[in-house]
Amino acid sequence: MNAPQKHTLNFSQTGTRLEEVLAGSFFDETTRKYAEAYRHLEEQFSSLSLRLEEANLELGRSLDEKDRVSNYLNNILESLSAGVLVVDLEGNLTLFNRAAEAISGRSEEEVLGRPYQEVIGLHAGREKSVLHTVESGQVLSSMEKVMVLPDGRSIPLGFSTAPVCDSGGEIIGAVEVFTDLTEAKRMEAELQRAHTLAALGEMAATVAHEIRNPLGGMAGFAAILERDLEENDPRRRLVGKISEGIARLNRIVSSLLAYTRPLQLNPHPVDLVELVKGTASFFAVDPACTEAGVSISCRHTASDIVCNLDPEQFRQVILNLLQNATQAMPAGGVIDVEVGVSPTRDPPRAMLRVCDGGVGMSPEVRQKLFTPFFTTKEDGTGLGLVTCKKIVEAHGGAIRAECREPGGTCFTISLPR
Ligand code: ADP
Ligand code: MG
Repeated sequence: MNAPQKHTLNFSQTGTRLEEVLAGSFFDETTRKYAEAYRHLEEQFSSLSLRLEEANLELGRSLDEKDRVSNYLNNILESLSAGVLVVDLEGNLTLFNRAAEAISGRSEEEVLGRPYQEVIGLHAGREKSVLHTVESGQVLSSMEKVMVLPDGRSIPLGFSTAPVCDSGGEIIGAVEVFTDLTEAKRMEAELQRAHTLAALGEMAATVAHEIRNPLGGMAGFAAILERDLEENDPRRRLVGKISEGIARLNRIVSSLLAYTRPLQLNPHPVDLVELVKGTASFFAVDPACTEAGVSISCRHTASDIVCNLDPEQFRQVILNLLQNATQAMPAGGVIDVEVGVSPTRDPPRAMLRVCDGGVGMSPEVRQKLFTPFFTTKEDGTGLGLVTCKKIVEAHGGAIRAECREPGGTCFTISLPR
């Protein structure tokens, strides 16, 4: 900007004549120059303020953008199902996202600013933690460790770490990303179990077939032997023992085959009340039931419950449950059988409940109920309930067991109608 020129009234220098001064033309000229300078100034000022306004706007926009990016990143962090935590050079937590809270059972509020080793702990060793990365700059990728929760439980974690650097490349902290592997581990174990079972089933089926033939022969020879012995021959008792053993082996082989054989369902609409009542009255006259002093009380809370069932297979399920209930009541008692409709599902499902007042189940037994070959009985096979489950599930249903108050067990089957 040009400074307005200084004018002194040196008439001889400027060559201004006194007349002109007196006539005012000199003042006019000076005022005009001042006015022009002022206008120029004003123009420059407004152009400057325009530029300032633009700069302000730009700054605002870039702040907004920065805000947006930061919100965006923050939202991503918070939406991640993986836990993310960041520590500074001192190993204090500076970031702890929502998933980290959910997995670790600790709140962001409670952990921010606190030392990692105090909050998360170093149960798996320092070299399996973000502190190792802060100190060495070394990246840990796709590793596993165990995290101890505030309630003392341990959970398996999958995790990776990386150093966090500033724009100059200096390490200013480190980040640890972790996921809860509990569910994955459970599925892995289940899959492993399924594989083992499949292999076991194949082997069992072969062995069962191999055993069945000689078993048939043995049963025949035992019968001949028994026939040839006198009525009061003491050896008859021994032959009886052989026949008992053969019958037991046969039972084991049959249940093994029933469990391992692929299910071939032949379903058609069946009245569940009729099927259950028929099977229960068949079982009620079985010596296994009568000799144990067990009776069956059958009732239905709804009628006309028609399900698409393979009645032969399903009868097996009911018989298995009744047999278990009987065996659970060595001193006799009543088995309550109820057929009805379960209102907790939409559409409502058919429901069958078999309850006994027997020995009940310990938590350990309850957990292993549906595990093949799990039995607490001396002559049990541990295949009854798994076979029930297999048949029920093949019908699109579910089976569960509960403890009954004041004692005993209830098995509930729900089925689509
Ligand atoms: P098994 O009858 O040959 O032992 P199951 O598969 O039928 O095999 O049952 C497995 C185990 O579940 C039984 O040994 C028993 O411990 C438990 N169980 C089943 N039914 C009952 C019941 N009604 N009351 C208590 N325990 C039961
Ligand atoms: Mg059984």
